[in-house]
Order: sequence, then C-alpha cells, then structure tokens
Amino acid sequence: MKKILARQSKKIKSLIKQMAILSDKENCSVFLVGGFVRDLILGIDNFDLDIVVEGNGLSFAKRLFNCLGESIVVHKRFATATIITKDKLKLDIATARSESYASPGVLPEVIFGSLRDDLKRRDFSINAMAISLNGSSFGELVDYFGGKKDLREKRIRILHDLSFIDDPTRITRAIRFKARFGFSLDEKTEFLLKQAVKKRLLFKMQKHRLRDEIILLLKEQKPAVYIKELNRLCGLKFIYSGIVFFPSLDRLLKTIEKEVRWFTNSQFSKRQLEAWLVYLIGMLDGLTLTKLRKFCFEYALRKKDTKRILSYKNFMLKKERKLHEVLKPVYLYKIMSPLSYEAIIAVLAKENNRTARMNIVRFLEEFHTIRPHINGDIIKELGIKEGPLIKKIINQVHNARINKTIHTFDQELDLVRKILRIK
Ligand code: ATP
Repeated sequence: MKKILARQSKKIKSLIKQMAILSDKENCSVFLVGGFVRDLILGIDNFDLDIVVEGNGLSFAKRLFNCLGESIVVHKRFATATIITKDKLKLDIATARSESYASPGVLPEVIFGSLRDDLKRRDFSINAMAISLNGSSFGELVDYFGGKKDLREKRIRILHDLSFIDDPTRITRAIRFKARFGFSLDEKTEFLLKQAVKKRLLFKMQKHRLRDEIILLLKEQKPAVYIKELNRLCGLKFIYSGIVFFPSLDRLLKTIEKEVRWFTNSQFSKRQLEAWLVYLIGMLDGLTLTKLRKFCFEYALRKKDTKRILSYKNFMLKKERKLHEVLKPVYLYKIMSPLSYEAIIAVLAKENNRTARMNIVRFLEEFHTIRPHINGDIIKELGIKEGPLIKKIINQVHNARINKTIHTFDQELDLVRKILRIK
C-alpha cells in the first residue's frame, strides 16, 4: 500500500507522516482503518480518516492535536476523539476495542482489545481492513477477513452470521454500499439480511439511529435507486406505516432527482439546498398531515426540517391555491415566499401542470430575491416614527419592485414620498 499512500494529496501524506512519527515516539501501534482504506484501494477521494490505536488512543489523539489540530472533541466514555486538522481533514481516532451486544438495535458495550478485535466488530469485510503506520510495517495492509478480494469481486459480505441481528443498521448500510459502488450482496449475506428483515429487526431499531441511516441514504448521489433497492429487500413500512413504494413514488423520486439537478446547476446553484430533505419530503408524500406530524415528532427531526416538511404538505393541501392559473407577481410571491427551497423543489417535482411549473420557475428566477433598497432607518429619517406604518410602507415598496413598476433606490424613495405625501 506504500505506493498508493505516496499518490495521495500533500495534505494527507503529511498527516500520515506525522502520525507515523508520533506512533513510533509514543510506542503504540497506529492504523488507518475502515472506509478510508476501502476508498484508498478503490481510488476514491476520502477526506475523513479513521484511525485505530492499539494502546492509549486518547493520549495519541491529544498529542497529534498539539502538532496539527484545529479543534478536538473527546468522547471519554468510548475513548475516541475527533480532530479537525489545520488542513481541514477530519480524523476519528479510537482505541482498539471489541464489542458485545446486549440486544438488537441498541449501542454495544465496549471493551478494549487488539486491532483484530476491532476489525472483527465491523460491518463488512470491505470496511474491515487496516493499514499500519508503524516503523518497519509502515504501509502494510492488514486484511484478516478477505476485504481486498471482496472489493475486487465487488461483493458486500458480513463477517459473522449474527451481524445483522447484533446491529440492524447494517441492513441499510449494506444497501447503501451495494448501490453506491454497484456491488452485489454475497449470497449468504443476502440470505441473512432477508432473515433479519423477516424477524422485523428494522422495526425494533431506535428511531434516532434509523433516522440517521435514512438521512445518509438520502444524501447519496442518486437516492431513488437506493430507495428502490431498500424497498426490494426490506419494504418501506419499517420507516413508517403508510409509506408504500407505489410506481408513483418511484416516479416522484426520479423527478425530484431531475429537479434537484436543475436547481443546483442553474443560476440558483449558490443557494443552499438540502437535497436529502427534498427526497424525504417525496418519500413521505403519501402520509396524511397528522401522520406526518407524528413522523417528525417520533424521529425527533430538527425543528427547521419539520417546518419545511409540514409547510410543503400544507401548501399541497390548500385547495384555494391557484397555482394552475397565470398569477399576478405579488400574489405569486405571497403564496410561494413562505416556502423553503426544499419545499419549492418538492412542489415543482409534484406538478405536471405547465402553468403551475411556469409560476414556480418564474417565482424563483424573477421575484424570489427581490428586496427593497430602503429600510426602516431611511423612512424614519423622513420623519416617520417607529411603528406598523413603516412595515406597511416597506411592503408597498416591495410590491412595486415585484411588479417591476420601480427598479432603483431613487424610485423607491420617490414612492415613499408619494405614499407619505411629502414633496
Ligand atoms: P462513508 O464513506 O459512508 O463515510 P464509512 O465506511 O467511512 O463510509 P462510517 O459510518 O464513517 O462509514 O464508519 C466508519 C467505519 O466504522 C466503517 O468503515 C466500518 O468499519 C465501521 N462501522 C460503521 N458503522 C458500523 C456498524 N453499524 N457496524 C459495524 N461497523 C461499523
């Protein structure tokens, strides 16, 4: 692996060198592990490094932080630390450990152990390889479970028969890696995965862990494929009763993919869009408002995400919304502006009607970013006291800008004067 390490970016090479020097100084064995090693072999860039230390991981982490860290977060209970380096690389450092599971779906008990123990507790062979960073063994691949062969043969394989029972998140992880790399599931792994699904283990998962897994799935490149595969192997009911993979849902997710691409490649690309949330809104499209509220509550979604999901639903439910008619700019602004980008893109994906689509695109392209140049302070300088009148005036100016009857600061000021009957 020395040759592959030598081909990495300057930042990564210098970090690895620093760790190698420190591990010899500290007299502990240090290894690159997990997804970073997998991606290194696959030739995929990965800037999140996972490190395992045989010895005192926390002391190693603190010393490394002193050399090149920008920030460090230490989790004493698990003897792990996360460092962000000055070069903006993320490092997760752990003390080698073994684990035992009290019951499916909950976090395991942790006991310190050897590198082999640490690799044995991992999800798949392709994620259970390590590269030594110590002295004479620097760059050697440690591959106890045939991970390299599985990578070559494009296979996802668990390390022992109880793997999915110990931790059902591995079910969705298996689907994620399978779809991401275009791999297949090893025959026995697929059999055991289906057994675990039959035992309804996904239903027993803690909701916050399931939420994090679903979000990771939706953050992949083309989530529609992942959801389809998830449905093929597990159904979607375990996420929430009422979520069914009808052909219409498949179509909607694919359309969302198209709209997200349009949005991010268009002139709006500088605007932040949380694409995963648009897919989530799509996935939940069949739920009633009441169920949707319960979903957001049970999964303890962030307040702002809950708000965005519910605003989409409320918008779609409002019978009086006239999106299918050519709308006056001010009215279009009034109904669309409370929606987040995520909700707007979801509405766009749902709408087949040409006029409705034109209204939405027009709102985004022409009206969305219009803001008056004048503000409360400027109006106060004209002798108006603080109060609701100021807001009313600003609204009128804003409407005139949206209607394109005025464009410049001077024209705005003229309008304010006219409203106030000031010469
Ligand atoms: P990604 O590219 O999606 O970040 P990753 O493999 O780096 O993939 P992480 O979730 O960051 O994934 O996990 C890091 C490593 O920790 C994995 O490579 C795997 O070895 C181990 N791991 C993560 N989750 C589990 C799990 N549920 N069970 C066992 N091992 C796990």
